[in-house]
Amino acid sequence: MIKKPRVRFAPSPTGELHVGNARTALFNWMFARHHNGKFILRIEDTDEARSELSYQIGLYDDLKWLGLNWDEGPEENCPYGPYRQSERLPIYKDYLEKLISKGLVYPCYCTEEELEGERRELILSKRMPRYMGKCRNLTKVEKTRLEAQGRNPAFRFKILPQVIEYEDLIRGKVKFESDNIGDFIIVRSNGMPAYNFSVVVDDYLMKISHVIRGEDHLSNTALQLVLYKALGLTPPFFAHHSLILGKDRAKLSKRHGSVSISEFRRRGIMPEALINYLALLGSSFKGGKEILSREEMIREFSLEKASKSGAVFDDDKLLWINANYIRKATSRDLIKDLAPFLHDAGYRMEEIDSDWLEEIINIVKDEMNSLADINSHIEIFFPDKLKMTVEAKELLAKDSSKIIIRYLKEYIAFNDDEPRKLYINAIKHLKEKTRLKNREILMPIRAALTGKTKGPELEEVFKVMGRSIALELLQRIAD
Ligand code: GLU
Repeated sequence: MIKKPRVRFAPSPTGELHVGNARTALFNWMFARHHNGKFILRIEDTDEARSELSYQIGLYDDLKWLGLNWDEGPEENCPYGPYRQSERLPIYKDYLEKLISKGLVYPCYCTEEELEGERRELILSKRMPRYMGKCRNLTKVEKTRLEAQGRNPAFRFKILPQVIEYEDLIRGKVKFESDNIGDFIIVRSNGMPAYNFSVVVDDYLMKISHVIRGEDHLSNTALQLVLYKALGLTPPFFAHHSLILGKDRAKLSKRHGSVSISEFRRRGIMPEALINYLALLGSSFKGGKEILSREEMIREFSLEKASKSGAVFDDDKLLWINANYIRKATSRDLIKDLAPFLHDAGYRMEEIDSDWLEEIINIVKDEMNSLADINSHIEIFFPDKLKMTVEAKELLAKDSSKIIIRYLKEYIAFNDDEPRKLYINAIKHLKEKTRLKNREILMPIRAALTGKTKGPELEEVFKVMGRSIALELLQRIAD
C-alpha cells in the first residue's frame, strides 16, 4: 500500500495542452486520488522565449474543464511555493552553488556554433553526438580570457563513469551507461536553469514521491538520477508510461488530427467522455467495461494499467464514448453544454424557450456523436436555418411526393388539433386519400419537415415542431 503519495503534473506553457500531456495529468491525478495523496500543479516556464501567459491561462482552463483539480499549485497559500519555476530562480542559484562547491559543475563558454560544429564532427565520424568536455579543464587564465571576449558561461555537470540503474514502476529495471552521456548543461548562459536541473530541485523540495510521466522523458531520468546522487538526495519513484500513437504508430501529432484539448472541446467532445477515453486508452477495466464513472476509474487505477506499449488513438472510439455521455446526460444539463455551439451557429439562446429546447434535445440527443452535431439536428425546428440534403430534394421533386405534401398542407391548414393528434389524423387522412403505404407517405413528409431522409421519430418531431412551423415549412416546399 502506497502511503499518501505526492505527485505532480509539470507542464511547460509553450503551447496548447496536448492530449498526450492531459493523459499524463490524468494518470497522476488518478494515482493521487486512488491512494489518497496530493496532486500538484507546477508550471515549468523557464524557457522565456517560448513560454506565454496565454498558454498558462489555457492550461488552467483545460485542466479545470477536464475536472483534474489540483491540491497545490500556483495560487496563493500552498505550502511548497512558489509553484512557477520562473519565481524560483534564487532557489536554483543556491543549488548551483552547492554543486559548484563540490567541484561537480564547471563553466562552459562554448558558443552555439562551436557546439554545433562538434556535433557534426561526431556524427560524421559515426560517434554518439555529445559534449566532449572542451571546457572541463580550463585554467583560470583561460576562463578570464574567454570572459573578456564577452562570453557568459553556461554551467555543465561533470558526468563521471558509472552505470545508472533504477526500477521503473511501469517498465521494470532500466539501465543507462554514462559513456553515452556528455557533461550536460544545468544552468544556461542566460542564467536560467535547464529542465533536468530545476525539475530535480523542485521535485525534491516539493516532496514529490512519484514521478509519473511519458516515456519520452526516460533519457532525462538518467540525468536526473545523477543529479540526485550528486546532491546527496533520495530520488522519487519513477514511472514512465507509453505514449499515444497515431494510426501509423508514430507519436500522435497535429498531422493525425485533433491533438490539443481545446480542439476536442471545440469539436463538441464532453470532458467526461475525453477523460473516460484517455483512461481506457491502452488499458482495460474489469469485465471489459468501457464506460466508467470517475469513481470507478479512480478505484481501479493502477500504474500497471498504463501499459508499456504505445496506445493508438482512435477518434471513432472517442466519438462513440462521447455519444454515450450525450445520451446519458439530462436534456436540461445538456442545454448548458450546447449553448456555445448554438450561439456560434447564430441561435439567440435568450429568445428560445428553454422548455421547448429541452423537448427538442430529448428527441435529437440519441442521434448525436458530438455536441457540435446539435446544429444539424436543431435546424429542423427553425425554418430559416433549415438546409435540405440532396436526397431530400430529389425525393420531394417526385410527383407522388408533391401530391402528398399538398394534401398534408391542406389538412393541417384546415385542422387545428393539438400536434400529436393532428399528426396522427393527418397521416390517416393521407393514407385513405392516396392508398399508399405508411413508408411511402412518411418519407416525403420527413424530407419536407426535416430536410433530411433520416432522423428521429417523425411523430415526435411533429409534436415538438408544432402546427405553425410545420405549415411554414410545407408552404415553402409548395412554393
Ligand atoms: N515540463 C516538462 C514537460 O512538459 C515536464 C516533464 C516532467 O514531468 O518531468 O515535458
